[in-house]
Amino acid sequence: MKILVMNCGSSSLKYQLIDMTDERVMAKGLCERIGIEGSKIKHEGAEKYETEKPMPTHTEAIQLVIEALLDGKHGVIKSIDEVHAVGHRVVHGGEKFATSVIITDEVKAAVKECADLAPLHNPPNLIGIDVCEKLLPGKPQIGVFDTAFHQTMPEKAYLYALPYEYYEKYKVRRYGFHGTSHKYVSDRAASFLGKKIEDLKIITCHMGNGASVAAIKGGKVVDTSMGLTPLEGLVMGTRSGDMDPAIMQFVMGKEGLSIKEMENVLNKNSGVLGISGVSSDFRDIEGAAAEGNKRAKAALDVYYYRVAKYVGAYAAAMNGVDAVVFTAGLGENSAVARKEICSYLTYLGLEIDDEKNNVRGVEVNFAKDGSKVAALLIPTNEELVIARDTKDCLK
Ligand code: ADP
Repeated sequence: MKILVMNCGSSSLKYQLIDMTDERVMAKGLCERIGIEGSKIKHEGAEKYETEKPMPTHTEAIQLVIEALLDGKHGVIKSIDEVHAVGHRVVHGGEKFATSVIITDEVKAAVKECADLAPLHNPPNLIGIDVCEKLLPGKPQIGVFDTAFHQTMPEKAYLYALPYEYYEKYKVRRYGFHGTSHKYVSDRAASFLGKKIEDLKIITCHMGNGASVAAIKGGKVVDTSMGLTPLEGLVMGTRSGDMDPAIMQFVMGKEGLSIKEMENVLNKNSGVLGISGVSSDFRDIEGAAAEGNKRAKAALDVYYYRVAKYVGAYAAAMNGVDAVVFTAGLGENSAVARKEICSYLTYLGLEIDDEKNNVRGVEVNFAKDGSKVAALLIPTNEELVIARDTKDCLK
């Protein structure tokens, strides 16, 4: 069974074709600058190739993906009939979706309703679904939601201390994101430790461009750091994460910013980019800090400290922790970031081994022998979760 995984953003499209007999990635790629001058497809299949092609809309982009998969030279399939189903990443499922589902007209209507909560993400996700329905007629389409895994959170974790009617009228509550990643790495953590997930308290730290932490008790999320939107929680590449809500009004007054402009500052110009003034990419910031750039060093310190505070909070939320898991771009690649964060956690009984920590992108427990708490590096694989859920939905 071959499954096409689609992740449609507003101007980009990531895809993978996965053969589920052995979960092998047959092909993967990226269409960039959809709807903008200079759009490009990068494809890795039988061969790698990259070319600029006009993609005024997602229809042309998905058409190009299908052509790339079928191509005599760099393609990997002979006929589109070899694709059994399409699994779509959908960012916001609101309170409606606690699991992945086969997409129907009712599902599409529900995703549209949630677009209010994720205006940048849900509309392009829906366009991807519509275009795939047109270009791959008769193939089952499955929706896999970033929010679904977090739907087990209890009321005390998801309610904000605001007038209750905002929850009733507008569904203002914590939802959480990166659910597929938190699910994948927590499952892998249990297998890696040779224990049943039902018996474990795990804290997963997804540290990519976007970043979030989840507290997972017995395989179920009990709390997570992102909220109504992905803006809350950790410091991120360009997002502020937690802050005093009164800052918005204060800065808007001082700088004469509109709500839209302020929202843009918090999403695009804040985080480690905002503090350092160097970059949103941790490689650049680590480099600048090593050369003595004080703001870069401050950005890293604020970042590590925030992650550590969340781990402490979630150890309290679960009344203990068996494993802390690091994943995504920074979590998988930066031994320094893992070490600095773990330096705050020795009181929990988490002691790391610098030698074992000195790796990237492999599954490892880098805690010292005898450490009470495991420190795990687990590379994430959101596409594989989408493909597995798609396969399960077809049963
Ligand atoms: P996304 O959220 O876009 O999926 P990723 O999980 O790929 O992001 O993470 C991207 C981030 O990971 C980059 O912005 C960079 O800061 C960080 N990163 C990647 N490789 C390294 C590295 N070798 N050292 C430090 N940071 C890295």
